[in-house]
Amino acid sequence: DKVLIGNKITEGHDNFVMAYNMLTGIRVAVSRCSGIMRQLNAEDFKTTKKLSFNIEGNELTPSSKYDFKFKDYCPEVFRDLRSIFGIDPADYLMSVTGKYILSELGSPGKSGSFFYYSRDYRFIIKTIHHSEHKQLLKILKDYHEHVKANPNTLISQFYGLHRVKMPYSKQGIRKVHFVVMNNLFPPHRDIHLKYDLKGSTFGRKFNTDSLDKSDLSKVTLKDLNWVENKQKIKFGPEKRKLFLEQLERDVSLLKKINVMDYSLLLGVHDVKTGNTKETMQRLSIFDPISAEKRVLMNTNPRGIDLATYLPNNYIQTRMQYIFYGHDGGIRATDERNDPLSEIYYLGIIDCLTNYSLKKKLETVWRSLGHNRSTISSLPAKEYGDRFLNFIKNSTTNVKAKSQ
Ligand code: ATP
Ligand code: CA
Ligand code: CA
Repeated sequence: DKVLIGNKITEGHDNFVMAYNMLTGIRVAVSRCSGIMRQLNAEDFKTTKKLSFNIEGNELTPSSKYDFKFKDYCPEVFRDLRSIFGIDPADYLMSVTGKYILSELGSPGKSGSFFYYSRDYRFIIKTIHHSEHKQLLKILKDYHEHVKANPNTLISQFYGLHRVKMPYSKQGIRKVHFVVMNNLFPPHRDIHLKYDLKGSTFGRKFNTDSLDKSDLSKVTLKDLNWVENKQKIKFGPEKRKLFLEQLERDVSLLKKINVMDYSLLLGVHDVKTGNTKETMQRLSIFDPISAEKRVLMNTNPRGIDLATYLPNNYIQTRMQYIFYGHDGGIRATDERNDPLSEIYYLGIIDCLTNYSLKKKLETVWRSLGHNRSTISSLPAKEYGDRFLNFIKNSTTNVKAKSQ
């Protein structure tokens, strides 16, 4: 099973029951939400649907291995969001809940969240804190409006918000909130370098001293590594303009909804280095139906390899693919828009942290000893400005090679 990213979860694993319940709940809830699409109304942003699962099953829920309760938040809104993001309903169900190989990404963050990939790696399930859950509900309307107006938004694409409630021990119950979102990284292309960028420098370094060069692709580097490695996002003038304009609109939403602590997750694939053999094998389990690229193109809404090479004038002629020309990646280009060897897979992640009292206290505490601009807890406006500045300064125009 070397081809799998993350750890495969099977029966007996600590989180197997939780993961099993999450998927069972999504499958039933999403299949139920299949009537004719209609205009959303204010009620849809408050609606929740509850399902109760047990061994016996009933007319609403099929029999389930375990007893648990499932709550689906604003199902119609998320259905609409999936449609805006071009996710085919049958495809979604199949990917998220079809005969799954569920794999867990460990807990990559400090927050204690768990991450799971769908079987084809297109989707990520992230367990979230109750405060993040409340935050998403609170901003759902703004978020929905934003993605409707900005189909190329770089902010995480949320496809569902759910909760499972299950027996924990004899006395207790365990409530787990989670979101389904897009995996920024494609399963069939090696990501050679990965950065998580916040625009702050305080503690923002991954120590690579003890790492082999070949292990670099396995870790997530941070702001100080980015600066030390003199990394830049290389875009020609038009692409740069479009990218920064989108980023600016996205950040202004994040400021408005008073969140901070988010980052630009950036994966770099270098076509010169290409893929390892393992990655090519991974492609064969990428789609449950077929390993054939031709079929994958039809089943992946982002259009895998729609354009492996983008012509000089594609910005004018193929505007709709600006961020999706490479199954969600953006090709690096020089000042003449000729392609360079990197493809970037990027997006703004972890954007549900409200600038709450806790953060306010942290700001006061840290401000006592540190320069305010280097610490990561700042009010949303300052955080957003600093973030935007950092990414702007990290984006350059590369001279074209003379021919
Ligand atoms: P913390 O709050 O400590 O930063 P967290 O638990 O909130 O951690 P995130 O910051 O959301 O976690 O993500 C942690 C890591 O998981 C990222 O650096 C990235 O490597 C991976 N990751 C998160 N979201 C995605 C995504 N949408 N696509 C691909 N990888 C992701
Ligand atoms: Ca984070
Ligand atoms: Ca977080």
